[in-house]
Amino acid sequence: MATYEEKKQRLLAELRASAGMAVALAKNTSNLFRDRNNAPRRKLDVRNFNNVLRVDAANGWVEAEGMTPYEKLVDAMLAHGVMPAVVPQLKSITLGGAAAGVGIEASSFKYGLVHETLLEMEILLPDGRVVLCTPDNEHKDLFFGFPNSYGTLGYVLKLKAKAVPVKKFVQLQHIRHTDPAEYFDDLAQRCAEDADFVDGVVFGRNEMVITLGRFVDNAPFVSDYTYKNIYYRSLRERTTDFLTTHDYIWRWDTDWFWCSRNFFAQNPIIRRIVGKSFLNSVTYSKIMRWNSKWKITQRLDKLMGRHSESVIQDVDIPIANAPQFLDFFHHEIGILPIWVCPIHPYQPNAQFDLFRMPNTLYVNFGFWDVVKGREQHPKGHYNRKIERKVSELGGIKSLYSDSYYEADEFWQIYNKPAYTQLKRKYDAQGTFKDLYQKCVLRQ
Ligand SMILES: Cc1cc2nc3c(=O)[nH]c(=O)nc-3n(C[C@H](O)[C@H](O)[C@H](O)COP(=O)(O)OP(=O)(O)OC[C@H]3O[C@@H](n4cnc5c(N)ncnc54)[C@H](O)[C@@H]3O)c2cc1C
Repeated sequence: MATYEEKKQRLLAELRASAGMAVALAKNTSNLFRDRNNAPRRKLDVRNFNNVLRVDAANGWVEAEGMTPYEKLVDAMLAHGVMPAVVPQLKSITLGGAAAGVGIEASSFKYGLVHETLLEMEILLPDGRVVLCTPDNEHKDLFFGFPNSYGTLGYVLKLKAKAVPVKKFVQLQHIRHTDPAEYFDDLAQRCAEDADFVDGVVFGRNEMVITLGRFVDNAPFVSDYTYKNIYYRSLRERTTDFLTTHDYIWRWDTDWFWCSRNFFAQNPIIRRIVGKSFLNSVTYSKIMRWNSKWKITQRLDKLMGRHSESVIQDVDIPIANAPQFLDFFHHEIGILPIWVCPIHPYQPNAQFDLFRMPNTLYVNFGFWDVVKGREQHPKGHYNRKIERKVSELGGIKSLYSDSYYEADEFWQIYNKPAYTQLKRKYDAQGTFKDLYQKCVLRQ
């Protein structure tokens, strides 16, 4: 097997050979939910940068290559009694993808977003240089500017990240609420207590659940949501539960939160026919991509006289404004359920330039569905409403999906002065597209 250094040299040669051409990453999986235009670009094959290099449980860190999927990373780390401080919920998300985007989970109320748990990154720049970035070396500007740059400043090939100790099981407590203001008050309170994990789900205007997770050494019983039973339904049915730590980490993957229902995969007969190994986010995202390519549901909607808009987004709102956002969302968008996850910056003094979050508790709202109706609206009608509301309430939106911002508005949110400086220093020739071109114009 080639070493990291050998693979890096090969990749550098590939990049040099593509001089002048647009490039993109060749990967086996993706969790990017915006289609790009089909302009020709040379694919850099980074698929073999997927190894865990070292787990140092005693000192609390792991070193891995950039395209290591979290499933592999978690397996390697659990074997040493640790896990990444923040594990995005989908198994195929890679460590590098989460660093270049924005990674979040139920431990984010404690450790912030994935990028706050990174210790160093080795980044391949568009001009073929490779630089090591740490929070205090000469490339610290790139260390703090890389999160939310989505591959427009370079590709991260190797990372060192914080590891935290685990126990064998996670005990869950599901707490139900009927009033949004009380729900968010309680959420804030629970974040100040002793849980290891906090997240929640909004099932309706008067039905909201907070789930607390605590590591325990022993469990009186252990539930299994990897095949016949469906995790999100258990939140409405149980008040306590126990999962192995492994199954807790991947509790949302089997049914892609609840989105597997769009593929009829929650039907017990279909589950039995397709089998356990197909019930995962990789299968569903392949089906979605295939659907997007052949426009199957779009054609069906047209046939039935319906108009539809995909609304797949994660937005972060300061908790004081969370009830207002939820009210707006019920009224104007109407997608249910909604995933809720509290986030508190881990390093209050660190400023990540392209994803600025003041030192306060935020609530991530995740919603992934299609809004359908008989009325025809301009493109991005519902997404645009969300973008405006998020800005009005002092929030910020992740860029892994469709965005419709005007350029000025976009750059005000995502910090044009800092980005321009980074681009000048690390991609002076403009070899890679810029963030607006990539995330909004889909170039
Ligand atoms: C339906 C849905 C639900 C999601 N839910 C969650 C969630 O619950 N929690 C969470 O944390 N995130 C979630 N995400 C977002 C996800 O973490 C980001 O989209 C992340 O960037 C995906 O990483 P990936 O490894 O799959 O990268 P890809 O999807 O392959 O790429 C994403 C972008 O990052 C760039 N990129 C990828 N690898 C690198 C690299 N090594 N260096 C530089 N740039 C790179 C690519 O060029 C691309 O622009 C969700 C996304 C979707 C679509």
